[in-house]
Amino acid sequence: MIIGWFLLRRLTSPLQKILSTVEKAVQGDRFHRIEIPSCGDAGKIDHASNTMIAELQGTIPLKDYSNIITQNMDDALVVTSPEFTIQMVNRSACELLGYNEHELIGKPMEILFSEEGDAPPPWFDLIVKNLIHKTEKTYVSKDGRKIPVLFSGTPIRGNMGDVQGIVCVALDITERKRIEAELKKAVSQRDANIKDLGYLMYFSTLMNEEVREDKLIHHMATALHEHFQPELLAVLTVDKVKKAFDATLISPPMPLHKLIRADVLADPPLCQVIRTGREIVVDNSAKDVPCNCIIHKMEGGGYACLPLITGGAISGMVIIGKKDTGYWYNEEIRKLLLVYVGLTASALQRVRLIDLTRRAAITDSLTGAYNRRFFDEMLKKQIALAKRRNESLGLVIADLDHFKNINDTYGHVVGDQALQQIASIMKNSIRSSDVLARYGGEEFVIIMPSSDITNTLKKAEGIRQHIESFQFKMNSHASPIKITISIGVAAFPDHGAEYETLIEAADLALYKAKKRGRNRVEAP
Ligand code: GH3
Ligand code: MG
Ligand code: MG
Repeated sequence: MIIGWFLLRRLTSPLQKILSTVEKAVQGDRFHRIEIPSCGDAGKIDHASNTMIAELQGTIPLKDYSNIITQNMDDALVVTSPEFTIQMVNRSACELLGYNEHELIGKPMEILFSEEGDAPPPWFDLIVKNLIHKTEKTYVSKDGRKIPVLFSGTPIRGNMGDVQGIVCVALDITERKRIEAELKKAVSQRDANIKDLGYLMYFSTLMNEEVREDKLIHHMATALHEHFQPELLAVLTVDKVKKAFDATLISPPMPLHKLIRADVLADPPLCQVIRTGREIVVDNSAKDVPCNCIIHKMEGGGYACLPLITGGAISGMVIIGKKDTGYWYNEEIRKLLLVYVGLTASALQRVRLIDLTRRAAITDSLTGAYNRRFFDEMLKKQIALAKRRNESLGLVIADLDHFKNINDTYGHVVGDQALQQIASIMKNSIRSSDVLARYGGEEFVIIMPSSDITNTLKKAEGIRQHIESFQFKMNSHASPIKITISIGVAAFPDHGAEYETLIEAADLALYKAKKRGRNRVEAP
């Protein structure tokens, strides 16, 4: 019974498969085929059935597809021969491509993909292999417009599996592509903004923590280099005393006079940016030049000049150049540049204020010499240092002679001017390591590190002679005034090993000088 059942199954199973395949073919499934067993009568039947189905399908001529093509189909449909010669197009294809039916029929399919060149693009072969399904391609319309489409190419096969034609269906995705591009742009813009914001926050913190002016300029230069990759970057400051431009930084390095015209260097207000406090942007330095201060020739491109405004005053300028023409006309870029320069300017202002406050705390406002508090601290420190180094230290105390008379005769204003000029003479007579301070009303002191009594006496005598011979010309007074000074000197460790004893020794020497007739220098 088991053997009987097995034989029956071998016979009926292929027959069932044939039946099911024929049913599917009748229902329209053109590509369903029977798996052909290796041998036997059933295999022969299978092969015959497959051939019959294919022949049935092959008898449908290509032109009968025209009904479908001409129907109101939104997708652009193009049917070609196996050699890709256009045979039929539907209304949507004509509308999309801007051709009429007669202009396309008989033409090679590649004219619709003209960006691919005259020869059929290599991917046409893939259509024949059934591998082009909903792939993004670009059609080119009659007037040269590029139209992105979702493209499917399907070969129509004959009963022997040979390609009889190609059906190309394309869906216009211009709008989708536009939205995608806009979205991509918005996302990348947002990412760039986040990055800029992060960097600006870091930059702002850096600038707020910095206390040195040169470091601030350095940080700004680094940030500008990183963000804009300029071919030229210069930071110029206006020296208030010299009333001229100073170069804080020029990259690539070059002498300042090779960058800026000599007359502008000597007179900064000749520069429009310094005069007006408004930035200028030069789009193309070869063509439009709203300012001619910059003499350095850039290799094309343009530049921007921005004022450094600190505390309401214009204290300098930033010049930034880039080869790309029109780069600085981009508003976003310019805004960002202004933020960097603005942050730097306010940090500069803060640092300068700190410097000013610090200096005010230790200097005398009338003469610019250090004040007594600073002197007291400094003398103690210098004595300790001299002790450690086993060195000597000179101390000078000077008192103007009969200064009360100057005030009484010429008035306090003239007296003040005399004090300023005497401080300036003293300042110019000492080394940079010496410390000049105003000790009292008309008394000055000088600390001379590493100076013994002989040298200190010599220096003091030089100052005395200078003041004696000096013609004090006061603004409010026509004829010059003569002023003399008495000086007492002492040296560490000879006349005092401590702060108090050293001062006392110098004071005694001054008293001696006054007593012995004034306008003289005495040691203890
Ligand atoms: P002596 O040679 O003995 O030192 O005579 P003197 O007149 O300089 O001495 P005295 O100490 O009697 O007078 C010091 C004068 O210095 C008194 C004061 O009017 C003047 N003085 C002190 N401080 C200032 C100041 O800041 N400005 C001006 N204009 N005068 C000052
Ligand atoms: Mg005095
Ligand atoms: Mg005096």
